[in-house]
Amino acid sequence: MTIAIGVVMTEHIVAGRLEDQKLAGKLLQYPTDPTIQESLASMPDGELVEVIAGQIETLSKTANGGESSADAIGVAVPGIVRSGVVEESPNLPQIKGMRLADKLTKALEGRGIKAPVYIANDADAIAAGVAATRGRLDKLTRVWTIGNGIGYGRWPYADGVWEGGHITVTLDPKEKYCGCGGAGHLEGIMGYRAMRMRFLDLEPEEVFAHAKQGDGRCREFVDLWHRALAAATASFIHLAGPGRFYFTGKNVGFLELPLLRSHLETMVRMSPLQSFSLEIMQPEPETALLGAGVSALRALEANC
Ligand SMILES: [Zn+2]
Repeated sequence: MTIAIGVVMTEHIVAGRLEDQKLAGKLLQYPTDPTIQESLASMPDGELVEVIAGQIETLSKTANGGESSADAIGVAVPGIVRSGVVEESPNLPQIKGMRLADKLTKALEGRGIKAPVYIANDADAIAAGVAATRGRLDKLTRVWTIGNGIGYGRWPYADGVWEGGHITVTLDPKEKYCGCGGAGHLEGIMGYRAMRMRFLDLEPEEVFAHAKQGDGRCREFVDLWHRALAAATASFIHLAGPGRFYFTGKNVGFLELPLLRSHLETMVRMSPLQSFSLEIMQPEPETALLGAGVSALRALEANC
């Protein structure tokens, strides 16, 4: 039996134990009260590592009553992650530049746990988790996460940056709401923060509700929001081919698949590329956690 520990670090830290690539037992959460917001962002980086190491220690002990054992440890974090280093981390600025894999490996060694640590981008981990649960680990799986920012994840892992949320979808010079400062970006239209900056008088939820009631300005924006996502998705279809796209994240409720599909159909006209499929998934930490663990096991196999 392979044992992996998966960890997801977003607004909260959630960790779980995988036995033969399936979740086993209860998940651990930090903070234990999920209504507490913002506590991770203000936590020193060393403390964050200790919290994760503590969760991993607890989970690695569960099955055999004391002796710690895990074959691989996977941690999913938002941002740009390469070779175990967090190169960019907009939501947890204190871990930007951190050699997270090395630090966590050391913290675990101090607790008597020797296992390789793999760090994944959170959207990539969701793609891996979806591929694992659907029995599609041999196929290309792509995921858009729609939240404060816009994330793009893919499985199988491919070296690169893959900041799909910052793909340019418009040449309009007035489109400059992206958190990164770049002009014309997808996140500058679809991101929650960007929508609040655009509509200073309405919350994003109100914009979508007013659009449903027929408000012209809101309806126009909701259409732009869907066209932007269609444009980015069409670009990835034109680069890597058709296939399945999943949509998730805490604001996935704004998405109307028929509207997205109708825009996508105007953008993808070459017949070999039209066999794409689109699916909405409700966000669950289990998916990213499972994907982090599965990615860690795959990375381990690749290095053997
Ligand atoms: Zn951007």
